[in-house]
This record gives sequence, structure tokens and C-alpha cells, in this order.
Amino acid sequence: MSAVIIDGKAVAAAARERVAADVARILEGGQPAPSLAVVLCNDNPASAIYVRNKGRAAERAGIGFTLHTPSLSSSTLDLVDLVHSLDADNGVDAIVVQLPLPPQVDAAAVGDAIAPGKDADGFHPLNFGRLAEGRAGTVVPGTPLGCMELLRAYDVPVRGSRAVVIGRSVIVGRPLAALLTNADATVTVCHSKTRDLTAVCREADILVAAMGRPGSVGAAFVKPGACVIDVGITSVDGGVAGDVDRAAVEPVAGWLTPVPGGVGPMTIAMLLRNTVSLAQAQRGAPAAA
Ligand code: NAP
Repeated sequence: MSAVIIDGKAVAAAARERVAADVARILEGGQPAPSLAVVLCNDNPASAIYVRNKGRAAERAGIGFTLHTPSLSSSTLDLVDLVHSLDADNGVDAIVVQLPLPPQVDAAAVGDAIAPGKDADGFHPLNFGRLAEGRAGTVVPGTPLGCMELLRAYDVPVRGSRAVVIGRSVIVGRPLAALLTNADATVTVCHSKTRDLTAVCREADILVAAMGRPGSVGAAFVKPGACVIDVGITSVDGGVAGDVDRAAVEPVAGWLTPVPGGVGPMTIAMLLRNTVSLAQAQRGAPAAA
């Protein structure tokens, strides 16, 4: 047996096309295009590339995009004030504060300043709380939402399945565990203190690796036929590597996301979807979950 390789590029392209069609319908209805504002306050080259990609993808989908680059010496209050001004701006539907922020800044305070109704990343505690409650009509962090979209696109059975998520971060592991729970999987969340990680993972019908430890998930972690979602992205030797040892796992798994070209392309596509959902919600239509 050899795993079906999940084509994240293709699923993301289809998702971006649906976003562009939604934007076209908004314009046909006489409303302005949804707009996304990004705050970039770091000099990290990876963040610069990521923000540029967000801007290009937004513009291709017909979404307005503005980039704010406050000084690297900004204080928490400076950035909170900037976010509040974007919250108050009717021409802005959705806001992203690109992480990391400079060390003198309280990143949680800046994130919490984003109005929940403009929270394009879905990281605001109110939006996370709604997700944890299993309520519809909320924005959801892009990477976990992208993982769910990949499962859906490839008809991977979720209801009643055993799912194991390795990683408990606020941006990936925790929201993904909530999404899988809401989709009726039975979910175990693992982390660096989990005992006998290999045995726990081997019980999974759906195994998600989100650790940032390249190649650490080998064949012994994988139940034959399981769906393995590799969220990990680590720069290695001028390229990127996932958490899964693809050569070892591909013969065992039923489905597998490659790195690159698996989960990665989904994150920006889901950010665009969140932007449109927020715009629709602000204009009276319920946001998509
Ligand atoms: P993070 O905040 O560093 O969290 C890593 C998680 O992995 C933590 O919960 C940690 O446990 C757990 N962990 C670390 N070593 C482990 C081990 N040996 N055994 C079991 N669990 C272990 O990372 P993140 O932000 O969630 O990102 C995870 C990975 O996904 C990174 O490679 C990142 O680049 C990638 N990522 C990709 C995308 C995308 O678009 N594809 C988006 C976001 C992140 P503790 O909680 O106990 O420390």
C-alpha cells in the first residue's frame, strides 16, 4: 500500500477560487470589496515573505490589502492604538497582526485589542472560546481550518474516528483539536510531556503532527491506513522539512500531506476565507465557520 498524497496546492487553489467568486458576488451586490489590514512590526525575512504572499493572494482574490509597518521601537500602547484605529475604520473588514512582535511588546495585549469581529486569524480569546464551545458562525485559525478542508476534500472519514494531534499551540494544536472534536472525532492532544507518544499515535485514524521537529514521526507512529497530516515546517538546508519522515510513512499511511505542498498553501487561502466571512458578517450576512 502507498498513501494517497494530498495535494494542498490544488485544494488551496480551489478554495481561493471560491473566495474570489464570493468577492465577485459582493461587488455585484454593490458593496465594496472586503479588505484586510496587516500590521508587520518585525524585521524577520520569513515574516516579510509571508506578508507579501498574503498581500498577493488577497489582491488576486479581489480583496483589498493594506500593510502597516510601525517602527520596530513601537511600544505595546503604540500597537494597541494602531489596532484600535483599524478596529474603528469602516474601510477595514479584517485585521492580522503578524507575529513575532518586538520583545518590548506584549503580543497578547495587542492581539486582544483586535475587535473579535475583525479577527482574521481567529486567535482572539472570544473567537477561540466560541470554537471551543462548538458554536458555528465564527472565524477559525487558518492552519487548522486548512487541515479540516484537506480532510474534507479527500473524503477522509472524521466522525467517530480516533484523532491524535501532536502539539498544543494556540495557533495549531488546540484549535485543531476543537475542530476535530466538533466534527465528532475522539481526540487526544499530545505534547512534549506525553508518555509513550509512539503508542498513542499508533491508535490514530487521523494523525496530525504539529511539533516543528523535522522527520520525527516515523512508520512506528502510524496505524496502517491512517491519514497523516504534517503541519510542521522547519527550514533545513535551504529548503523546508515537515515533522513526518515521508519515505518511512508513505508505505504505511492511507493518506499523507507532503511538505511543502500540503498544509502550507491552505493557511493563506483560509485567511482569505476568514476575511470574506468577517466582511459578510459586518454587512449583515452570517460568517461561515
Ligand atoms: P509551537 O508553538 O512551538 O508548539 C509545538 C508543540 O509541539 C508544543 O505543544 C510542544 O509541546 C510540542 N512538542 C514539541 N516537541 C515535542 C515532542 N518531542 N513530542 C511531543 N510534542 C512535542 O509550534 P506551532 O506554532 O504550533 O508550530 C508547529 C509546527 O507547525 C512548526 O513547524 C511550524 O513552523 C508549523 N506551522 C506550519 C503552518 C503552516 O502554515 N503549515 C502554520 C503554523 C505552524 P509543549 O507544549 O509541551 O512544549
